[in-house]
Amino acid sequence: MSAEALAGRVQPVAERAGPIISIDNVTRRFERRPDFAAKLAMRLGATFNRRVVHAVDGVSFEIGTREVVGLVGESGCGKSTLGRIVAGIDSPTSGRILYRGEDVAGAPSEAQREFRLRVQMIFQDPLDSLNPRYRMGRAVSEAPRHHRIVPLSELEGHVDRILLKCGVDPSTKDRFPHQFSGGQRQRIGIARALAVNPELVVCDEAVASLDVSIQAQIINLFMDLREAFDLGYLFVSHDIGIVRHISDRLVVMYLGRVVELGPTQELFAKPNHPYTQALLKEVPTLKRRGASFCTIQGEIPSPLQPPSGCHFNPRCPFATKRCRSEVPELRQIAPGRFSACHLNDDTR
Ligand code: SF4
Repeated sequence: MSAEALAGRVQPVAERAGPIISIDNVTRRFERRPDFAAKLAMRLGATFNRRVVHAVDGVSFEIGTREVVGLVGESGCGKSTLGRIVAGIDSPTSGRILYRGEDVAGAPSEAQREFRLRVQMIFQDPLDSLNPRYRMGRAVSEAPRHHRIVPLSELEGHVDRILLKCGVDPSTKDRFPHQFSGGQRQRIGIARALAVNPELVVCDEAVASLDVSIQAQIINLFMDLREAFDLGYLFVSHDIGIVRHISDRLVVMYLGRVVELGPTQELFAKPNHPYTQALLKEVPTLKRRGASFCTIQGEIPSPLQPPSGCHFNPRCPFATKRCRSEVPELRQIAPGRFSACHLNDDTR
């Protein structure tokens, strides 16, 4: 389904003035290239099996102004690849990323520059994303200085204001990344992203490496910053329980495809897709205290050889013959809700 088709029907919860980002039928493939030995073997007449991973397969949805979209699924489902494409760090093999309605790939260089500033990314491990040789103040001020976000005379005040908003003491600007705790480093990573005045921040497992108590603090910080800076987020996480508390809408991915999409509250109250139902059963809640932990049956198949038809069919308790041969289309099942399951056809 194209972004235009979804545009009129999926209304984000947050007030919006057109989407910040439209992801239009995006596909990303990774192809195994022949190494030296394979090239030698090919010269001698051997054949090389060019195996292709469909990391992202025909994904379309939008992110509205100040909207928080949770992108969830098991490891290897393509959510981080999609997050990197949305942030402009990776390119789609086919399909388009539209920033404020304009195709980023074909845009003039000035528009591409604006896109790269307006959409920022925060990574899982803040230590990996901070240069160990840069003092914290330099790490946060480098991009706004380079892109002239504020006049040079106001740069220090701008950085201090952002650091304070992120809960970092500006007097620690002379310290190196290894001199901060994990939670403080993530706050610095957030400050660095905010220093260029973004509209959308892609958070890739941004709290996954933190202690549970620190996770809660950082999630609260994300919500405070949303209000303070009119931010939207694409929150990429394997933990559907975490994104529940912060997302307006959820996008559930399985082996490169979107299987369900809808407002978070509705999706938690009544999940439609069997994969979403299975994911929610893994989330511990007080209501289910004492109930046994329920994991999804079976292993996630290799993306090199995904199952035919519905990718979820080997693990789905409701799979039929049709599921093994026909790919279910992502269809509207209620206002603002979409699901890709043949069961929805059978019950209509
Ligand atoms: Fe299960 Fe079939 Fe629906 Fe896929 S299409 S989730 S296999 S019932």
